[in-house]
Amino acid sequence: MTLEHYIDGARVPSISGATFTSLEPATNEAYLTVAAGRAEDVDAAVTAARKAFSDGPWPRLPGEERAAILRRIADASEARDERLAALECRDTGLPITQARGQARRAAQNFRFFADVVTTLSEDVYRVGSAQLNYVLRKPAGVAGLITPWNTPFMLETWKLAPALAAGCPVVLKPAEWSPLSAGLLPDIMEEAGLPPGVFNLVHGIGEEAGAALVAHPDVPVISFTGESATGQAIMRNAAGALKTLSMELGGKSPLIVFDDADLERALDAAVFGVFSLNGERCTASSRVLAHASIYAEFTERLAARAAQVRVGAPSDPATELGALIHPEHYARVTDHVRLGVEEGARLAAGGARPPHLPHGNFLAATVFADVTPDMRIFQEEIFGPVVCVTPFGSETEAIELANATRYGLAAYLWTNDLRRAHRMAQAIETGMLWVNSQNVRDLRTPFGGVKASGLGREGGRHSIDVYTVSPIVHLATEDLPVPRFGAG
Ligand code: NAD
Repeated sequence: MTLEHYIDGARVPSISGATFTSLEPATNEAYLTVAAGRAEDVDAAVTAARKAFSDGPWPRLPGEERAAILRRIADASEARDERLAALECRDTGLPITQARGQARRAAQNFRFFADVVTTLSEDVYRVGSAQLNYVLRKPAGVAGLITPWNTPFMLETWKLAPALAAGCPVVLKPAEWSPLSAGLLPDIMEEAGLPPGVFNLVHGIGEEAGAALVAHPDVPVISFTGESATGQAIMRNAAGALKTLSMELGGKSPLIVFDDADLERALDAAVFGVFSLNGERCTASSRVLAHASIYAEFTERLAARAAQVRVGAPSDPATELGALIHPEHYARVTDHVRLGVEEGARLAAGGARPPHLPHGNFLAATVFADVTPDMRIFQEEIFGPVVCVTPFGSETEAIELANATRYGLAAYLWTNDLRRAHRMAQAIETGMLWVNSQNVRDLRTPFGGVKASGLGREGGRHSIDVYTVSPIVHLATEDLPVPRFGAG
C-alpha cells in the first residue's frame, strides 16, 4: 500500500517519486510506503492553498456555511470510527480500546469549531459620540499545520478544525512515524463538500517537508505540536519571514499528592496519567511528588499497580499498554531506564521488556522511586511508560520541585485543603493545572504551556486568534480636531 499526498483535490505521488517506509510498532515490520514530500511538493500544495485563499469561495463564505461543511466533516469522521481506531492501533501501537475514542474526539473538534465560528462576533469600541472603532476579523492566509506522531488524527483535527473554521486553506504535514490515519482525510473532506485546494496534505520527513513548509513565504501561520527542540528549529527557520507561530511543545508534568488527599483517587489518576496512551502523551503525569508522610506507602502502591498494568498486543481489547511508536523512540525510552538505574534511582516496577512479548517496542510500566531533581530522568521528557517519584516535606518544597524543570505544560494537584490548592495554583509554573482531577478538558478552555512547553494558546477562541488577523477600523463620526502643521 502506498500513501500519497493530496494537493488541489487530487491524490499525487511526490514530484521526485521519493518514498519512505512506515513500520508497525508491534512487530517493527515495514508495512506501508509513503510519498516523501520535498520542497517542490510543499510548493505545489502551498500554491493550491494560496489560490484557494485569494480566488476561492472558502475564506469568503459566511461562517454558517463553513460551519455546515465542518459538521459534515465531523459526521464523515465519526462514520469511520472503527476503521480509524484500527488504523491508529496498527500504525501507532495504541491499545485498541484507547484508539476508539479518537474518532469521537476528532468529530467533537469539528463540531465545536463549527459552533465557535457561527457565534463569533467582532468587537466594536465607541469613543463617546466622536468615533466608532470596529475590528475586522479576517482569515490570516494559508496555514501550515505540523503534527506529532502521538494520537495523530486527534491532534491533526485539533488544528484543522479551527483553521478551516476561520477560513484558512491549509497544508497539513503529518508525522512520518504515524502517517496512516491522515490518509482518511481526503475522502472525508470530499464527502463533506470542502472545495478543492482548501485542504492539502503533504507527507514527508520533518527536516525536509516540514522545514520547507515553515520556510515558505506564502504561509504566514505555522501551528506546530511536537518536541521543544523541534520548536526551536522551527522558530529559527520562521524568523526570516516573521510568521505567526503557535507552539505546543513537550512536558514533564508533576502530579503532587499531599497527605490530606483522597489517596485512592490520586493513585488512580497517577497510574492512568502516565500509563494511558502508552505514556506517549504531552500532558502525562511523568513526575509524582508525594508528601514525605505518605511517600513510602504511595510509592509502594503505585509500583504494585504498575506491575499489574496489562502490556500486550495493541489489537487485544484487554491491553492497557501497547507498543511504543518506533524502534528509535523505544531505544530513547529504554536508554532513560538504564540511565535512571545508573543515576541511583530505585527501580520499583518494570524497567524491562515483558518476557511474553519478545518482538516489537514493548516495555513494562516502569516506576522509579527516590528520584532527585539533579537526575536526568527527573529533568528530561521520556515520553513513554516511565514515572519518577520524589518525596517532599513542605508546600514550599513541593512548589520548588514542581518548577524545577525547563517544562511547564500541565500539573495535577491532589489535596483537600482548598486554600492550599489556590496558593499552589498561583505558584506552579504551568499552562494548565488540575485539582483533584485527571486530565479532563473542555474544548473552550485555553490549551498550552509556559517555559519550554510552548508559546501561545490554542483551544476555544484562542485557536481562532491563531488563524485570523484583526485589523481595526477607526471611523470618525464627528469632526475630530486635526493639528494643522505647516498652516502658519
Ligand atoms: P517532533 O518534534 O519530532 O515532530 C513533530 C512534527 O514536526 C513531525 O511532523 C515532524 O516531521 C516535524 N518536524 C521535525 N523536524 C522538523 C523541522 N526541522 N521543521 C519542521 N518540521 C519538523 O515530535 P514527535 O516526536 O513527533 O512528538 C512527540 C513530542 O510532541 C513530545 O515532545 C510531546 O510532548 C510533544 N507533544 C506536545 C503536545 C502539546 O500539545 N503540547 C501534544 C502532543 C505531543
